Order: sequence, then C-alpha cells, then structure tokens
Amino acid sequence: MTRVTIAKGDGIGPEIMDATLAILKAANAPIEFDEIKIGKEEYESGFTSGIRPEAWTTIAKNKIFLKAPITTPQGGGYKSLNVTLRKTLGLYSNVRPCKGFHPFVKTLHPDMDLVIIRENEEDLYAGIEHQQTPEVTQCLKLISRPGCEKIIRYAFEYARANNRKKVTCFSKDNIMKITDGMFHKIFDEIAPEYPDIQNDHYIVDIGAARIADTPERFDVVVMPNLYGDIISDITGQISGSVGLAGSSNIGMNYAMFEAIHGSAPDIAGQNIANPSGLIQAAVLMLQHLGMGDVAENIQNALYVTIESGIHTADIYSSELSKQKAGTKEFSEAVIANLGKKPSHFPEAKLAGGKALVIPEPQRKPDPKRELMGVDVFVYWPGKDPNVIGDKLRDLAADDLPLSMITNRGIKVYPNGFDETFCTDHWRCRFKSETPITFDKVLDILQRCHQAKVDVIKTEHLYYFDGVAGFSMGQGQ
Ligand code: NAD
Repeated sequence: MTRVTIAKGDGIGPEIMDATLAILKAANAPIEFDEIKIGKEEYESGFTSGIRPEAWTTIAKNKIFLKAPITTPQGGGYKSLNVTLRKTLGLYSNVRPCKGFHPFVKTLHPDMDLVIIRENEEDLYAGIEHQQTPEVTQCLKLISRPGCEKIIRYAFEYARANNRKKVTCFSKDNIMKITDGMFHKIFDEIAPEYPDIQNDHYIVDIGAARIADTPERFDVVVMPNLYGDIISDITGQISGSVGLAGSSNIGMNYAMFEAIHGSAPDIAGQNIANPSGLIQAAVLMLQHLGMGDVAENIQNALYVTIESGIHTADIYSSELSKQKAGTKEFSEAVIANLGKKPSHFPEAKLAGGKALVIPEPQRKPDPKRELMGVDVFVYWPGKDPNVIGDKLRDLAADDLPLSMITNRGIKVYPNGFDETFCTDHWRCRFKSETPITFDKVLDILQRCHQAKVDVIKTEHLYYFDGVAGFSMGQGQ
C-alpha cells in the first residue's frame, strides 16, 4: 500500500474529494490516505501560510499529495498556499492535459488534445518586488539554467512516455533576450537529444493567439511560469469547462495533484460541482505512482459516464445530456462504469506506464567572468536628462566613463529625444573597455554619494566567456 496525503480544502473541495475517494476505493487503488487540513480555516486561526507545521510533516513523510482547491482569503497579507507548496516542495513542473469531451460537452475545438507544461518555481513568481522611487516599482524576473533544463527535459520525457509527437516552446526572447533567451537556447540545446520528437518555437504572443484559435495544431507546449499560468487557464476553458481538467505538480522528490479550478464558493455545499477535474488529477497521480492499470480503469469509466449523457450542471445541455447528475450521483455512475470501455472516445491505455525519471541538472564548469562596469540606478525627480547626464559624466573616472543613461529602458542620454517621457528613475551605465576590479565600482559609488546623487541600486555588468551578460539600452 502507498500512503498519500489528502486535503479536502474549501468550498466544493470536500464534495469533490469525497466523490474522488469513493471512486479510488471502488477501483481498488492500493492506496491509504492521511488527511490534513489546509486553507481558509487554517489561515483564519493564525497560520498565515494556510497550513500548520504538523501538516507539513505529513506531506514530507508521504511525498505524494492529492489536494482539493482552497480559498485564499482576500487582503490581510495572506500568501497563496499553492505557490508556497510548489516552491517549498520543489514542484518545478506543472502539467495540464487539455482535451475536450466533444461531442458530449460543447466546445469550439473538438479536436484539441494538448498538454501545457508550465515551469512552476521561478520567473516573475520569485515574488521579489520593490518600490524603488516614488514613481517606479520593480518585479525581478529570474530564469535559471537548472530551472530551464529541468522543465524542458521534463517536457521531452513526458512527450516520449505519452506517445506525443511534438514539443513546442513558447518564449518572448525577441524582447527579453537574456532571460527568455536562455529558456529558448536551452530548449534548442536539449531538443536534439530527442530526435524521435519534433520541436518548434513560437513567440508567446502569436503562440497564445494560435492556441486560442486552432489548439489542435499543438501537442506538448513548454513555457516559463507566467505564460504557462495564463495560457493553461485559456486552454482549460476552451476545452469545455474549468470543472473538467486535472493537473500535476511534479518535483524531484514530491508530487502534488489537483483540479485546475478553484474552490467555487458560489456552488459549495449544493452537491452540484463537477468532480471530473479532481478525478482526472487522481488518474494522473495513479500514473505517477506506476498504477497505470487502476488509472486506466478510472479514466475509461469517466469516458463511459460522459458518453452515456450523465452530466453535472456545468456541462449539462438539453440537446446533448440525458441526465443531470449531482456530484455524488456522478461519482456513483463512474463507479458503476468501472471495468467498461468507452465506445466513442478512444480507450485510455495507461497500464504499464512508469514514473518519469528526470536527472538532476549538473552544474557546468565556471565560465570566465569579467566585470566590465556597473549600472547605477538613481532617484532624481528632475526632467531634463542632460542635467543629470552632464553631472554624472563629469564625476566619472577616466577609465570607467558614463556610457549612457536610460529611463525605463529607453536611452535618454547622450543625444536623447526631447519627446521621450521620463520618470524619476534613471539607469546610469558606467562601462569600461577592459575588465575592472570591484574597487572601481566602489569608487564611482563614493563619487556619486559625495556629489549628492541619490543611488537606489546597482547592477554589475559582466562578460561570461567573453559574451555580454547585460542588455543594451533601447535606442542605444
Ligand atoms: P473558481 O475556479 O473557483 O470558479 C470559477 C467559476 O467556475 C465559478 O462560477 C464556479 O462555480 C465554476 N466552477 C469551478 N469549478 C467547478 C466545478 N468543479 N464544477 C462546476 N463549476 C465549477 O475560481 P474563482 O471563483 O476565481 O476562485 C474561488 C476561490 O478559489 C478563490 O479563493 C481562489 O483564490 C481559489 N482558487 C484556488 C485554487 C487552488 O486551490 N488550486 C485555484 C484557483 C482558485
């Protein structure tokens, strides 16, 4: 028997979890459950992360977690428990299969059958934000080499293990050449290791438009965290109902499975919620545990139930459905259909599957790192870039001259345009032609300080193996 942690969560959580557990029991899944409490009640009883320490111990012991949705209280500085769980447990991969149930559930995209693989730990979700000046705020976008390697390799391994033909990468590397550029570059490095899988790349904006328009052209799509967050909700929605899809969050040591939807407080306690999202999450969990035969049985029983026209209210239509079922009645129908094969949908074939094993990324040998200068960020409420530009040019040392000033990334000095709108936040680049030592950075900061220049932050300019690790100014 495998022990799995479960949490019934908030809103419709207890109803859909009870329905799912009844199906797992009826299908003889060789699993025992340890229940923990998370969510609203825990937040409100003083655990600001929505979970108490004993519950962490259970999660750590069992390593596998089947989780119903929770309600995050509005305001009050409460942090999202979902984000905390993903990051604390190192769940770097969020996998969301999106497939419609056409013709039994209405969708504009009857042939869509794609899987979004979203990086789950970094990008703008590092949550490192600062207000730097009265007018300007900042959120750091962190993309790491090991983070990219893990998720991209996971996408290809997933494709291979699930008989998928193609992996597509989405990034915005035409604009973010260093961060998204790294994601795309590592995709291009890893793709040739999988000659049996096709690969391609889209800039995320046109890629998202194509997914919304013709999702059937995609198979497995891998992308950084924020794009994945947005696009996986779109694909969930256009496949039929947010109540249908399950997702997995996979790490090196832990895994968490949940429906993609939230706690739906508007329909809680009425026995009308669709449990299919959590049922499909449980199927993903069984596959992950190498219990493909049980997963297959439940998935096929779900298909048979939907084919037979037994539908919960969210997918009920008078033309396509035969019976409007409550949450409990729907799960009873799935139980009655265990052992049957679908007649319209292709039969799920999940038996014999193995858990994916992704190697830990290895640290590369240290590149040659040379310090070439420093970007000094300055708070200055003036308007004319030439005033601050001339002042900083005059105070710079000869061997570390001021090379440019940008305002929100646009070059405004030297030779800016009068029309460019400027805020109170100025990025002043001091750059040498030859490598410098850190003393030079301290020296320029000292000169700024003595001249009453209000420095708010610095960013070093490095070359890595002779390649600039910093972007140019727009218009430079
Ligand atoms: P939601 O997904 O809970 O609900 C959106 C709409 O879809 C509602 O009309 C709801 O009735 C319907 N719906 C959702 N699941 C359904 C199901 N299984 N069957 C039938 N209808 C269903 O999104 P929301 O209203 O924006 O968020 C409600 C709460 O859930 C918030 O507190 C939010 O923070 C939380 N949330 C939690 C998670 C999670 O725990 N993973 C995810 C998203 C949102």
